[in-house]
Amino acid sequence: RELTVQLGERSYPIYIGEGLLDQAAFYFDKHGIGKQSPLLIVTDEQVGRLYLDKLESGLRAAGYRTVSAVVPAGEQAKSLSQFEELITIALKAGLDRKSAIIALGGGVVGDLAGYAAAAYMRGIRFIQMPTTILAHDSSVGGKVAVNHPLAKNIIGAFHQPAMVLYDLATLRTLPPREVSSGLAEVVKHGLIRSAEFVAWIDENADKLRALDPEALGYALYFGCRVKAEIVSQDERENDLRAILNLGHTIGHALEAVGGYGELLHGEAIAIGMVGAARIGVELGAPREVYEVTKRVLAKCGLPVRLPAHFDTDAIMDAMRHDKKFKEGRMVFIVPTAIGDVVIDKNMSAERVRRIVEQLKEEEQ
Ligand code: NAD
Ligand code: ZN
Repeated sequence: RELTVQLGERSYPIYIGEGLLDQAAFYFDKHGIGKQSPLLIVTDEQVGRLYLDKLESGLRAAGYRTVSAVVPAGEQAKSLSQFEELITIALKAGLDRKSAIIALGGGVVGDLAGYAAAAYMRGIRFIQMPTTILAHDSSVGGKVAVNHPLAKNIIGAFHQPAMVLYDLATLRTLPPREVSSGLAEVVKHGLIRSAEFVAWIDENADKLRALDPEALGYALYFGCRVKAEIVSQDERENDLRAILNLGHTIGHALEAVGGYGELLHGEAIAIGMVGAARIGVELGAPREVYEVTKRVLAKCGLPVRLPAHFDTDAIMDAMRHDKKFKEGRMVFIVPTAIGDVVIDKNMSAERVRRIVEQLKEEEQ
């Protein structure tokens, strides 16, 4: 399957299919990645062990020169010190303006490698090769960043990839918890844009969890398409793109309070989406918005109840650090129907607080 992210001169293709890792050289060549300048492949220890040799040998056989950088697996790799390390490797390997940096991995590797590509020589080309379900979201759209000890994703840029090459065969080695976490973003793309797709997930959640190739291919294609359409309309998040933050206001706060270890990103936003649905119903959406949201997420193997030990004050404090929070009011994405949301720029923190408390009482 193939899609295009329409961004004028910076438009780029997304290829989704089985076995694309073996054909990387073909796609690179097709899209003008030359063989004169070296390529830097960035991956993490886990993904590197599984797929780096395969990618490197295919590229070398086709005449590409490659170097690789293997970072530790996990969120802590999205740091300024890892960024500096990548730049060191790039300089030593002689990467120039015609070189490209390739991200082989999940959202962590994509964000880190993308930020290095955005900064190196004021920006060189960058190719996303996602290997997690979650990365169907993070690899499209051009948001790249590393973390600061005081704030996540705070050092970053908009730097669109030259191409996204998504080999679904790599997903088979994902741990089940990572599969479910990634499905949360798939559900999110349905909840903001398509009741039909949400109904389809409702029917096919078991197949998705079992990584059925047909079902997964369709779901990731659909998710990427929603993301691509929204990014095409509002690349820099002046307005519309904010709808992609459904479940994230609460979700980010839960990740922070859990120390970025207790809840995976998708798990945190699943709970956040249940909270957002509850708020939607309070504000007049049909009750089925809440019921369907919760049922579909649970079917995907996600938590829908907030563990009781999460401190509500700490969660509200974490939300206050959000730059969109002012005087007890915040920006919040509110579902109005299945497949539709609005951006509420004046959400009361008090209401959100009450909902967070209620999330501890949800039936799992
Ligand atoms: P991740 O990159 O840490 O991957 C999760 C785990 O799975 C890691 O341990 C990794 O080694 C392992 N893994 C990856 N692929 C594998 C495979 N095929 N087989 C076996 N193991 C594999 O996490 P993620 O969930 O992909 O991404 C989370 C990150 O994405 C966060 O840092 C988040 O901020 C970022 N993100 C960015 C955007 C964006 O628009 N840029 C959007 C959403 C999330
Ligand atoms: Zn997300």
